[in-house]
Amino acid sequence: MSDYIRLKNPLKGFIQTDAEVITARFEGFHIVSGQLETPSQLICPACGSEDCIRNGSSTLWILDIPYGDKGVAINLCRRRFLCHRCGFSFRQDIPFKNPDHMITNALNLYIYGLLERGHTLKETSILSHVDANIVKAIDKARLLALYTDGRGHLLKPEKQAKHIAVDEFKIHCGHIYATIVIDLSDGSVIYLAHGKKKQALEDFLALVGDEWMNAVEAVACDMNSNYELVFLERYPKISIVYDMFHICKNFSDMVISEVRKDLQGKLKASGRTADATSLKHSKYLLCSSLKTLEKKDCQAKAGMVVVEESTIFRRDEVKRQGGHVERYRKLIEENEILASCDMMKEFLMDFRSLVSEEEARTKLESMISFCRGTGDPHFNKFANLLERHSEGIVSHAKFHISSGMIEGINNKSKMIMRKAFGFRDDDYFFLKIIDSSRKRTKQSPTEI
Ligand SMILES: [Zn+2]
Repeated sequence: MSDYIRLKNPLKGFIQTDAEVITARFEGFHIVSGQLETPSQLICPACGSEDCIRNGSSTLWILDIPYGDKGVAINLCRRRFLCHRCGFSFRQDIPFKNPDHMITNALNLYIYGLLERGHTLKETSILSHVDANIVKAIDKARLLALYTDGRGHLLKPEKQAKHIAVDEFKIHCGHIYATIVIDLSDGSVIYLAHGKKKQALEDFLALVGDEWMNAVEAVACDMNSNYELVFLERYPKISIVYDMFHICKNFSDMVISEVRKDLQGKLKASGRTADATSLKHSKYLLCSSLKTLEKKDCQAKAGMVVVEESTIFRRDEVKRQGGHVERYRKLIEENEILASCDMMKEFLMDFRSLVSEEEARTKLESMISFCRGTGDPHFNKFANLLERHSEGIVSHAKFHISSGMIEGINNKSKMIMRKAFGFRDDDYFFLKIIDSSRKRTKQSPTEI
């Protein structure tokens, strides 16, 4: 014991008798041996009698906070007692042991701290010398305590939101859908549930209640969903906002891509193979804004390196290619329909910045008639989409909110999935997503 630094022993009721490092069951652990203090008063937990006698002892292992780079395993001797009056046999209570795992409360708190600071399960397991499955169980219990009522339901959001966004959320590589609701003031996830059906949203409404919902001014959602119907049925005063993020995405997918394919086919059919080839790989060009293309050309002029040369892995340097704007201009000059796409893109860009609903309404009407004017079936379909959702599109001028933030959470969740092993436990996965979206609030230290 002479080479052992004595620290203040935070384990109340523990008397240390020995300390050594052995390499048997707990390889490389510090082994601390000891026993529990003899209780001053013995009371039978069954009948309350004080007439109890010692009746043997048993030893058990409890892990404590690591010391240096080694874990600490306590070999604890615990007495057994027998009640004279009722014959009940009971063991001494261990005041510093975590009720759920064979670890001390102090170690539990240490693991809590690591998880709170964003360490992965694996990292926490390595740092705490505790099995990763136990670390996961501790993390799940921590998150359940933070975000659920302990009876299997999510807690109602702490603060009132004014603007919320609702969207479907892909999990497990898009095989399964979930419904997600976020508070747009800070991006925190306030609801998450399996299924993209009406029921998921109904459950959310039941959770927050009418009073909470009546204080919500606007809901951002995707045009392709039917969420708005659920809201409007029950809260007709709420403004539905179709965000520009999804509208622009819809335009790229529904119109630009399709028009390009049609055009390529037409050119090929009429023997203009060279022109058809020039359209190949042009989706990026056509979908980008002119500003982005100009920026790329500027970078090319300045000799920007996209991929650096590496001698270790024989990788050649790749410089930013130029000529984006020129190629784009040529495409839209030669093809009338692509020029229309370009115009429409500009319109949508301008629409984004409008703040007057009246102006937005006029602009939307002109966009719809522009689409119809092209005579192209894809443009026409897009015009129908705009028309069907005109109220919600115009509302964007008033609220300027978007559910594009959910896209970011989608990406984040993929990272969470990668950081943990597997996540076959969806409850845990969802709790992790909710947790990662919240701003960390400092927990008050728990008594060891
Ligand atoms: Zn008794």
